[in-house]
Formats: sequence, C-alpha cells, structure tokens
Amino acid sequence: MELDRVVVVGASLAGLRAAEALRTEGFAGEVVVIGAEEHRPYDRPPLSKKLLAGEWEADRIQLRRPDSFDELDVEWRLGRTAVAMDLERRAITLDDGTTVGFDGCVVATGARCRRLADQERHRHVHELRSLDDATALRAQIASGDRHVVVIGAGFIGLEVAATARALGNRVTVLEGGPAPLVRGLGAEMGAVVGRAHAAEGVDVRCDVTVERLDKRGVLLDGGELIESDVVVVGIGVEPNTGWLEGSGVRTRDGVVCDETLRALSDDGTPIEGLYAAGDVLRWPNPLFDEEMRLEHWTNAAEQGAAAARNLLAVAADAEPEPYAPVPFFWSDQFAHRIQFLGRSSPDDEVVVAAGSVDDGKFLALYRSGDRLHGAFGFNAPRWVMKMRSSLADRASWDEALGVAGGFS
Ligand code: FAD
Ligand code: NAP
Repeated sequence: MELDRVVVVGASLAGLRAAEALRTEGFAGEVVVIGAEEHRPYDRPPLSKKLLAGEWEADRIQLRRPDSFDELDVEWRLGRTAVAMDLERRAITLDDGTTVGFDGCVVATGARCRRLADQERHRHVHELRSLDDATALRAQIASGDRHVVVIGAGFIGLEVAATARALGNRVTVLEGGPAPLVRGLGAEMGAVVGRAHAAEGVDVRCDVTVERLDKRGVLLDGGELIESDVVVVGIGVEPNTGWLEGSGVRTRDGVVCDETLRALSDDGTPIEGLYAAGDVLRWPNPLFDEEMRLEHWTNAAEQGAAAARNLLAVAADAEPEPYAPVPFFWSDQFAHRIQFLGRSSPDDEVVVAAGSVDDGKFLALYRSGDRLHGAFGFNAPRWVMKMRSSLADRASWDEALGVAGGFS
C-alpha cells in the first residue's frame, strides 16, 4: 500500500496519540487531523475534577505544550466536522463541503453524551463532555450555594457530585439502577462508593425513574418533584459513528474492528488502511476473549498509538500486532482514589482480598469461572497495580488470591 497521506478524524486523546505515533515511528508523509472542536487536543479527566472545581484553568489541561504542536508537523483542521466517508474514492467530506483524500485513516471521533427528551430546552440543565460544557457548569456551581441534581450515578454523575459537594453545594444524585457505578464495578462495590458519597453529605437515591425534566427541577415517576437550581445529566454516551453511515464501514455501538484495530466493512472484511481508536472503537480483545468498547483514558491513549503503528506496519508489509491490553480506569471522588484493572460482569464473584471496606482501604478481586477477571482498588493504588501481571498472565483464581494474600 502506498502511504503518502494519513488523515486522523477526531482531535482529542486517541487522535493526538495516533498522530504522535506516526511521527515517532518515522512516517514522513502528510498527516492531517480533523477535529470538530475549535480547541487543540486537551485532557478530559480534569473537566469533572480540578477544572470544574476552579483549581485549574484551561491552560493546565493541554495534551501538548503549545510550542510543541508545530514539532509534529501536522495540518490541523480544527472546528471542522467530518460528515461522510467515501471508501471507493478514499476521501472524507467535511461540513464546509471540502474533501480530504487519504491513503491511511484513523477514526478517533470518540463519543457524545446521551440526552433526555427536551434537554436542550432547559437552560439550567447541563451535560459534561467538552471544555465548553465544563466552563458553563463551573459558572453555575462555583458559588457553592446551589442545589445540584445529578441524573445518573456513573462516572460523570459521581465525579460531578463530589466536586459540587466539595464546593459546598447541596447535591442529590438520581440513579435508575440498584447502586452507583454498576456497569464499572458491579452492584456490591458500587454500593461501597455510594456510601462514601453519603458520608460526605451527598443524597444518593437509587432505583428511581426520572419522568421528565421540568423548569423547576426534575420530576420523578410517581409525581415527586425535586426542585433544583442546576441539573447535570450523566446517563452515558453514544459513539460518534453517524458520519460513517452508508459508507460501508461496519458500525454497531462503535466502529467494529478486528484484533489489530483495522475497521471491518459491512461484509466483515478488513478495510485496507482504515483503523480506529478510543471511545469510538469496538474490537475483540484476545486477552479476555471478549469484544469490548472501552470509555476510558488509558485505552484511548494506548489504542491511538497502536492503531497508527499497525497502519504503518501493514503498509510496510510487516505483521500488525493484536491489541490485547488489560483495561484500566481510575476515578477521583472526594479524597478517594478508585482504580480498576480488567473487567467486571454481573455474574462475577467479588471477594475483598486485602485490607477492609470498614478501614476505607481495600483490594477486591473479581472471579469469572476459574479465572481472575478484575481487580478493584479503593484507596489502594499499590495493591491494584500489583495485580496487573496476574491479569495479563490470565492467572487462575487461586493464583490471584495467593498474590493478594501477600499484601499488607
Ligand atoms: P474523545 O475524547 O471523545 O474525542 C473525540 C473528538 O472527536 C472530540 O473532540 C470530538 O469533538 C471529535 N469529533 C467527533 N465527531 C467528529 C467528526 N465527525 N469530525 C471531526 N471530529 C469529530 N477516563 C479515565 O480513565 N479516568 C478519568 O478520570 C476520566 N475522567 C473523565 C472526565 C470527563 C468529564 C470525561 C468526559 C471523560 C473522562 N474520562 C476519564 C474518559 C476519557 O476522557 C475518554 O475515554 C477519552 O477522552 C476518549 O478519548 P477519544 O479521543 O477516544 O474521544
Ligand atoms: P456511565 O458511566 O455509563 O454512567 C451512566 C449512568 O447513568 C449509569 O449508571 C446508568 O445506569 C445511569 N442511567 C442511564 N439512564 C438513566 C436515567 N434515565 N436515569 C437515571 N440514571 C440513568 O456514563 P457517564 O457517567 O455519563 O460518563 C460518560 C462517559 O465519560 C463515559 O464514557 C465514562 O466512561 C466517561 N467518564 C469516565 C470517567 C472515569 O473513567 N473516571 C470519569 C468521567 C467520565 P445503567 O447502566 O443502568 O443504564
């Protein structure tokens, strides 16, 4: 394959890491990065933490120093959205009607917030994905005397709740499921995090159904109105794949790729030179024998670089590498550091293997069949990181318990 121009669509973490890897791997051709936001790539984790709290300003969250952007020798097309891909012509159409041709392409368009019906009609209702969202929300909670109602006790919901509460606001969290963070941690450990919030004065209400947004606040089914000054909706995300509709690229809750992150066509064959990375990508992780789409920082960063390396390898007739990581995420809420390695599923057995819940520092292991599936650390960074090699080596449950048994 002739590779003169690589186009990266999405100018955030995965897209930037892809562009950087192209250069560090020695690609000397043209690199074009198309990004819908006006901003240069910035880091999202502080948007719900230090930036939202007013402790950091936007200049602290740039993903590269301003003077080092030029070193990458990339053509940035910022404030431009890709609206279509033509695989036959190998070209991408932008929202200003121009087209950009490509030999290789990395799709890194991430995800956008799910919304409730009529959400846009209410000025006091916020979502949190972008720097602009965070700036708008920060202005509403900075005074510390508001009633903030958060819908959804996932990552956004709980991090915003912690930040808003720490500023002095009254905070209520409304969750449809039986406990917070069920998707990430399962119900048992999600409930532990919920209790940590309650201890800080957050009113966490699970198993509630939001009927609709109201100009006075949030109406629950059954008729209860929860009055609020500010509402934050954190009910999950949808991958940004709409612009690929009709292109022949297979999408199913994400861009569907093979083990090497190469995108598949509608008929299931890999598409030459087309890769994906980050929140937008779904791929079979050989380490866990499972198809997954991850929505966390470390994956986006590592996958962006891996996609670029595999694109270059195939172009050079070398073997691409299967992408087989141990998934990881962290979340900071109040003074607590939450970390998770591996996977959790509702059927997993969960055992506290070191420390104790009552002491507020522990490691919980997740068991699937006879295998270690995941490791959750609550204020236990050293212990959780020591489980990485067990997960990478597909340790049995007994082996994993043996490793954790040595922690003190
Ligand atoms: P995104 O960051 O979503 O970027 C995609 C980019 O593509 C966006 O800039 C978007 O505007 C652009 N785009 C979309 N469509 C188009 C198009 N058609 N044309 C051109 N451009 C387009 N993870 C953790 O592990 N720990 C944390 O503590 C943590 N905190 C977070 C806090 C917040 C508030 C948020 C929102 C996320 C957090 N995450 C955290 C998750 C992490 O930030 C994401 O997994 C990561 O940003 C994904 O990177 P990405 O590049 O794949 O996608
Ligand atoms: P999320 O983690 O998927 O959580 C959404 C939560 O909202 C789930 O608990 C979900 O329950 C619940 N929910 C869905 N519909 C609801 C409704 N109508 N009423 C009440 N609750 C409802 O997504 P998120 O918190 O919105 O985060 C958005 C994205 O940012 C995710 O990709 C996340 O990974 C990322 N992020 C990550 C971090 C981190 O890693 N530390 C921090 C912030 C953001 P069900 O699961 O039962 O639907």
